[in-house]
Amino acid sequence: MAKVYLVGAGPGAPDLLTLRAARLLAEADIVFYDALVHPDSVALAVQAKKVAVGKRAGQVSTDQRFINRQLVEAARHYQKIIRLKGGDPMIFGRAQEEIDALKAADIAFEIVPGITAALAASASLGISLTRRGVARTVSFATPRTGPNEPESDWLTSAAAADSIVLYMAASQAPQIAATLIGAGKAASTPVAIVENASLENEQRIFGTLAGLSASTQKLAGPAVLCVGDVFAVEVLVDASAQHQSRMQETRTSRSLAG
Ligand code: SAH
Repeated sequence: MAKVYLVGAGPGAPDLLTLRAARLLAEADIVFYDALVHPDSVALAVQAKKVAVGKRAGQVSTDQRFINRQLVEAARHYQKIIRLKGGDPMIFGRAQEEIDALKAADIAFEIVPGITAALAASASLGISLTRRGVARTVSFATPRTGPNEPESDWLTSAAAADSIVLYMAASQAPQIAATLIGAGKAASTPVAIVENASLENEQRIFGTLAGLSASTQKLAGPAVLCVGDVFAVEVLVDASAQHQSRMQETRTSRSLAG
């Protein structure tokens, strides 16, 4: 019987993918993969037909309903179908729309979790999102809305958490900073931005909420904006060789912040 697997590819580095994902990819007949998935991860699907269904803001993308139809259609022709998504499929990955379409068509499916960008960023920074004594609540939030989705005060509710990780948010940094400050976060609240987390070209920038807009201007790759007291540079316990460059970035973002 045909089965569709919604598989998390992890944040970028191809070896941050589960053994289960790797096994399923090796066995897959067809793989539909996102733009943010590393080519080496797609290549694990040695015998599969590979279909790019990339979605990146502002770039050519495949309509979600079309992807849903492709998955349902593939189940008529193939046994093992993989929908390979960046990070974890269930976090800002439109997995639910695909699950609903598969359920409606009575097609078997299974979810294979992956490491979401927030957790890869936390690892790269060497900063726990739930540092004891500083943070015990975490929110993952995005300003991005779907079609016909009503506006909500999403950011105000996100701001209630001690550590906030914002996805797909870099282009809206000025409004986000203003709203968070309006919601009661101090302008001096520490911010860390991680671009291309887990990849060779990863960048980490430290600053404050007041300097957030300037810090996001040079970002080109996928990035998460992390806001909260745990991200204070002072709490960094940095045992890595990257210490020097990290401090350099800190100085840069501080000067940007004025
Ligand atoms: N399902 C994915 C998120 C998809 S939304 C996950 O669980 O990670 C796409 C957003 O994820 C990007 O705009 C960015 O905010 C974030 N993202 C994905 N990969 C990233 C990476 N390697 N580094 C930093 N942010 C990343």
